[in-house]
Formats: sequence, structure tokens, C-alpha cells
Amino acid sequence: MIVTSTLHNHCDMCDGRCSAEEMIEAAISAGFTDFGLSCHSYAPFDLDYSIKDEATYLHKLAELRKKYEGRIRIAYGAEQDLFAPVRYRDAYDYIIGSVHYLRDNYGNYHTIDGSLADIMHTLDKVFAGDTMALIADYYGNVVRVAEEQRPDIIGHFDVIKKTNGGNDWFSEDDPAYRKLAIEAIRRTAKIGAVFEVNTSPLFKKLDLDVYPSPFLLKELLSLGANVMINTDAHCTEQLVYGVDQTIELLRDIGFRQIMLWSDGKFIKRDL
Ligand SMILES: [Zn+2]
Ligand SMILES: [Zn+2]
Repeated sequence: MIVTSTLHNHCDMCDGRCSAEEMIEAAISAGFTDFGLSCHSYAPFDLDYSIKDEATYLHKLAELRKKYEGRIRIAYGAEQDLFAPVRYRDAYDYIIGSVHYLRDNYGNYHTIDGSLADIMHTLDKVFAGDTMALIADYYGNVVRVAEEQRPDIIGHFDVIKKTNGGNDWFSEDDPAYRKLAIEAIRRTAKIGAVFEVNTSPLFKKLDLDVYPSPFLLKELLSLGANVMINTDAHCTEQLVYGVDQTIELLRDIGFRQIMLWSDGKFIKRDL
């Protein structure tokens, strides 16, 4: 197995469907040496999706590490939203920096990680139908999470395309879109974080490439950025979904190495 670690995983402490123990048992069965739990950081404006209490979450992580000692190493992670930074940063082994919302001028949050209807509503009400203005706002937030919060991992870089599997509201080939995405990835890459290649669009059958799309992965390769593969699993059946296919994709693009997490730190592994 090439990919022996997985760092972007949720459980029923946030919006995942399986318990942490179920996820970890599945990770042991799959042969991982290192498993990181990365529940959504506490977001008071969206408690359905985030953890309810950070201290309880950290306590649970400590309990899990102890319980599974000798069987698999448990890493303490969080998927930190731009608008919901963790309180106890030093308690974590790593932070995934992600954008899930846009915030309007009145302080209201609008998910970009929901349905097509959600995003169409936001496009209409907040951006007066200006697609590129919405996308520019999204990528502005991605750059902010990187530059202001310095995460260890950049989460699902172009998740803004999530609802666009049928090219319903923009084209990834549109030069205006590409310019926004490329400029954002160049700025984001400057902080030196690891970019995850997130396979969840494959699991969800969204008719989309992984995050980031191949044209962005090519840019990362030319920038010399480090990448890792994560499945963003919200349940056990998602834990390794799309990993083999993504290894092939990365090889085809020209990547020779990926990052793994091993015993508390990143290491490089040849592809
Ligand atoms: Zn996310
Ligand atoms: Zn996630």
C-alpha cells in the first residue's frame, strides 16, 4: 500500500455518519499506520455540521489515541473553516484549512458546500447573478485561510465546483475562471502547506474530477508544491475510495512523490 496515512476524516462528532471508533477500525482493516480525525472546527453559526465543543473533541482524541495504541497511530486534526478557527491550536498535530462559506456584507453565512439550489440562491441574492464575482469571493477566502491562518494542509482547494458537475453555472474552461483559480493557487502555494488531493467528488459521483482539478494539479507540480491524497471520509465506505485512481492521475500528471503522515510528521513517499 502506497498511501499508509489518511488525515481528512470526519465522524459523528461533526457531520460524519460513523462513530470515530468505526472509522478507526476500518482504517486498521485497510492497513493504515496513521489515522487522523479532522472534524469540522466549532462553528456557532452552523452547529449541524461542526463539533459542538472543542474541549470534548480533544478529550475524545486523547482517549482514542490511548485506546488504539499499538494498533494504529491517531493524529489530532481539525478541518478549520476560515470563519471558525480552532481555539486550542497547539493541541493539534495538524490543521486543514478549508472554505465552506461566503460571508455577505451583513455578516450572514452562505454555504458553498451545499446544493445547487443553495448556491443559486446566494448567486442571486448576494452577487446579483454575477458568477465570477461569487467565484472571486470564494477564492479570496481560500487565499485568506492560507495567509491568515497558516494551515498545514489546504483542504479541497476548488470545492466551489462541487455543484457544477453538469457545468450548470460556470465552465472550468472559461479563461476568467481559470485566471481566478490559478492566481489563488499561486498565492496559496507560497505558504508552503501541503495540498490535499481530495477524492470525495469520486465517492459522491458528482461527475467531477478530484479537488483540485487536473489543470490546477499541473500548476502545483510546476510550483513544486507538495500533495497528499485524502478521501474526506464521512463514513467507513468512503475511507479509501478513489485513492488508487488518484495515484494513477498524479503519476500521469507527472508527480513523482506524495506526502504521507508518519508518527507525528510529514514524510515523502515515491509514487
Ligand atoms: Zn470541507
Ligand atoms: Zn471534510
